[in-house]
Amino acid sequence: MATPTSTADMHEKIRKHIQVRGIVQGVGFRPFVYNLATSLGLSGYVFNSSAGVTIEIEGGEVEVKKFLATLQAGPPQLAEITETTVSDMAVRADGAFTILRSQEDPGEFVLVSPDAGTCDACWRDFGDAQNRRYGYPFTNCTNCGPRYTIIQDIPYDRPKTTMSQFKMCSACQAEYEDPTDRRFHAQPNACRECGPSL
Ligand SMILES: [Zn+2]
Ligand SMILES: [Zn+2]
Repeated sequence: MATPTSTADMHEKIRKHIQVRGIVQGVGFRPFVYNLATSLGLSGYVFNSSAGVTIEIEGGEVEVKKFLATLQAGPPQLAEITETTVSDMAVRADGAFTILRSQEDPGEFVLVSPDAGTCDACWRDFGDAQNRRYGYPFTNCTNCGPRYTIIQDIPYDRPKTTMSQFKMCSACQAEYEDPTDRRFHAQPNACRECGPSL
């Protein structure tokens, strides 16, 4: 049996529900949240919804505050937060932080990022004779590439883009599934092997 603890207990956990609106899909927002939460030892989850990005985090008060401050201060390059609502939740002790499947809420909408010019890192891939994307014209990542042009519906996920007809090769799929890779959930992720050609 748990004994009642004081609210001043430093190790007491808190949980917050956070709804983020703005340009937050297709810009590397979920991996940013995932990496931030795990680096702070927080549990919970994040997913794309038709309203934007929904997050729940749980952990010590200090870490949760740090999470909220960093979320506002340092979102990914192409992201633009227009509104953040935070509310208190009951602690659930979910143990890990996970990225959940997208959810659709009828009647909601999100802002979609415009297409973005090739980023420096992708230019390096493009110009590196050792790189598997050497000279590949459709090189992109979560910080750059097409967005608005390829989106057919929201939430912004590959099956709802014109990229759905291109099945990723195993190398691209591995990047797409690795939260530490800058192509994690980059919906237009492609290479010469599996993507569109000129
Ligand atoms: Zn890029
Ligand atoms: Zn590929």
